[in-house]
Amino acid sequence: MNIVVCIKQVPGSSKVDIDEATGVLRRDGAEAKMNPYDLYALETAVRIREQVGGRVVAVTMGPGQAEEMMKEAYMMGVDDAYIFSDRKFAGADVLATAYTISQGILAIGDFDLIVCGKQTTDGDTAQVGPAIAEYLKIPHTAWVGGIPQVTEDKIVVEQDLVNITQTAEMKLPCLITVEKDIYTPRLPSYKLKMATKERPVHILTFDDFKDKNEKNYGLNGSATNVERIFPPAVSDDHVYFEGDSTEKIQALYGMLADKKYVNV
Ligand SMILES: Cc1cc2nc3c(=O)[nH]c(=O)nc-3n(C[C@H](O)[C@H](O)[C@H](O)COP(=O)(O)OP(=O)(O)OC[C@H]3O[C@@H](n4cnc5c(N)ncnc54)[C@H](O)[C@@H]3O)c2cc1C
Repeated sequence: MNIVVCIKQVPGSSKVDIDEATGVLRRDGAEAKMNPYDLYALETAVRIREQVGGRVVAVTMGPGQAEEMMKEAYMMGVDDAYIFSDRKFAGADVLATAYTISQGILAIGDFDLIVCGKQTTDGDTAQVGPAIAEYLKIPHTAWVGGIPQVTEDKIVVEQDLVNITQTAEMKLPCLITVEKDIYTPRLPSYKLKMATKERPVHILTFDDFKDKNEKNYGLNGSATNVERIFPPAVSDDHVYFEGDSTEKIQALYGMLADKKYVNV
């Protein structure tokens, strides 16, 4: 089975540098780590390969510095690693990101299963996985918390919906996004580090993609644009309510209603 796992580098700390002029994150040179949710995607992909055989290819869209993360993916058991990197991909919103990743996956070749994390810790939209599936016109299930069965041509998944678990069967090729806790991610292995240290991380650029229409990538391909990104204001203001518990509850409820946190 050809398994693709999508992993993304996210800021390693909450102190992020923002380009004032464009309103986008400055990712180059910033401290970065693998999106924690993608560790579960990686573990899922490697376990499925261990069960049914095949190959796991890790892919990411981002700057060249993602190579370090891809080396970590090698240490966790992936067979091959690709970075989709090009100035033309810069400034991508969810749609353009998902489109670029879908084009990159097509450029690599045949695939049976694509595994994504549930969400990232920076963009946090949880939309990229399903959007990739839509672009590739394949079925998908998000929030997968268990995989009771997987064979060469189908996968049975348990989808965690808030109060119920729904079991779905999908024919391959398809895409899943996995919940944290689906499996415990393995630690990077020193043995694999040694075995894979010469293994290259491939870079694919715009020129490697079939769709050469620049309007579909980066800022040009983005339906949305960021007006401003800013850290939330930190305030240590306190509000004290006087009175008995009923009066305090009414005062608190009134304040929340005024701020439109609750519907009156
Ligand atoms: C309006 C808007 C404008 C933006 N503009 C910019 C910008 O100008 N510059 C910029 O750097 N960012 C920008 N972003 C952020 C960028 O769109 C997101 O980083 C990207 O769409 C991924 O979305 P997400 O982080 O919400 O991923 P989610 O949908 O939360 O991620 C789900 C899963 O998809 C996979 N995935 C997500 N992103 C990647 C990736 N890059 N490579 C591989 N797998 C991935 C992972 O498996 C991940 O666990 C913008 C976002 C928005 C909403």
